[in-house]
Amino acid sequence: MTEKFDAIVVGAGPAGVTAAYVMATNKMNVVMIERGEYPGGKNVIGGVLYIKTLNDLMPGLWKEAPLERRIVQHSYCLMGEHEHTLLTHITVGQSDSPNGYTILRSKFDKWYAKKAQDGGALLITKTNVTELLRQDGKIVGVRTDRGDLLADLVIVAEGANTMLCEKAGLIEKPHPKQMAVAVKEIVSLPSERIQERFGLRQDEGAAIQYIGAPFGGFVGFGFVYTNKESISVGFGALISTMMKECTKPYDLMERFKAEPSVERFLRDGQVKEYQAHMIPEAGYAGMPRLFTDGALVVGDSAMLANPLTGEGADLAILSGRLAGQVATQAHRVHDHTSRRLSEYQSLLLNSFALKDMKKQSGLIRYIEENPEIMSAYPEGLNAALAEWFRVDGFTRSEKIRRIRHIVTSKRKLTRILKDAYTVGRKLM
Ligand SMILES: Cc1cc2nc3c(=O)[nH]c(=O)nc-3n(C[C@H](O)[C@H](O)[C@H](O)COP(=O)(O)OP(=O)(O)OC[C@H]3O[C@@H](n4cnc5c(N)ncnc54)[C@H](O)[C@@H]3O)c2cc1C
Repeated sequence: MTEKFDAIVVGAGPAGVTAAYVMATNKMNVVMIERGEYPGGKNVIGGVLYIKTLNDLMPGLWKEAPLERRIVQHSYCLMGEHEHTLLTHITVGQSDSPNGYTILRSKFDKWYAKKAQDGGALLITKTNVTELLRQDGKIVGVRTDRGDLLADLVIVAEGANTMLCEKAGLIEKPHPKQMAVAVKEIVSLPSERIQERFGLRQDEGAAIQYIGAPFGGFVGFGFVYTNKESISVGFGALISTMMKECTKPYDLMERFKAEPSVERFLRDGQVKEYQAHMIPEAGYAGMPRLFTDGALVVGDSAMLANPLTGEGADLAILSGRLAGQVATQAHRVHDHTSRRLSEYQSLLLNSFALKDMKKQSGLIRYIEENPEIMSAYPEGLNAALAEWFRVDGFTRSEKIRRIRHIVTSKRKLTRILKDAYTVGRKLM
């Protein structure tokens, strides 16, 4: 006989675990199905987790989580041809409301899934969900490589690879313009060496995002994050631009790591792990149907990622929480129809994350159509600063004239005005 649950969650990443946690702690009979050996097993590497949405869910409890370092330095590194400019914001002392921590997913996801299990959710690992089961148009369960399971509700949290959503007709196969490929390495180094290189104290961390020359032609950015005893280094770029430039992710990674502004942090480190993954970049316009009779879609599967800030995990937690709340209400009134479940979409649309994504809609397309933006401004800024700092007998007013010439040689003034107008309108 096929077992029946109140809800099945497909995928034990941050989105799925959050939904399972909310439903299980509201006394629902929930199972999470994860194809990895353990939660996080397929997400070996981590990044920065912005704490707000986790703290909203379990106030203070996140302090028990296996966090790596509290981010006290946020930087943008603008890379020119032979120079770079680092713009760094530093938080001094302990903050009452910490913002972000680096995490390693293999540790964090395991801890997080345990919270949902402690709350009453069942976890089945090493099991692949192959399709969503339908009866009379309604989703009624899942088919796995180990048999079928039934439920009143299925929450799809399969991540950026939306195979189940595509099969169920909730989303069309994303276009290469709507997906970024991300490549990441963990480079191990002693913690004292990391602290010394980044100017950090114990437990303090740094996050640097890189744009500029090495990424000329690509729409994407590189990053360096400090963990306790390792550095996460990598980049993400739109698949369409990687195809256009005929570049393999591995080659771009090697180029990026050899950049002096990156290499000085990694020197003498040992590469411990390597991973390539996808990041949804479709934005608001490319979001799938978030609900249907008997199912909700959360996290990366719902295209919830902000390419401007690199946020994804915290938005996954936000959507998991809202889906869990709506699922709990639906369970109480025994109503799993689209009409009832549409409340999830309304709540999400009213959240800070979706308001941002809606506002920024079309921004990535604009940059994709004008990829030179990604390198023209960093190169222009670097050349302008080099001119400003050079003492060579020219007066400051002559230098300002030369700087104006340098900047407009990288990008025409009319283009600069158009970029400022378009980007400004999408952000404010
Ligand atoms: C290189 C890289 C760097 C990133 N850096 C950051 C960062 O610094 N900060 C940030 O906030 N976000 C970052 N992100 C984004 C973040 O990782 C995602 O937004 C977040 O993990 C989405 O969570 P999720 O639960 O929706 O999906 P996932 O974390 O991808 O989880 C999906 C889970 O579902 C399982 N699964 C999939 N299909 C099936 C199936 N058919 N059957 C069973 N199980 C299945 C997978 O094994 C996986 O465990 C980064 C992403 C990448 C790729």
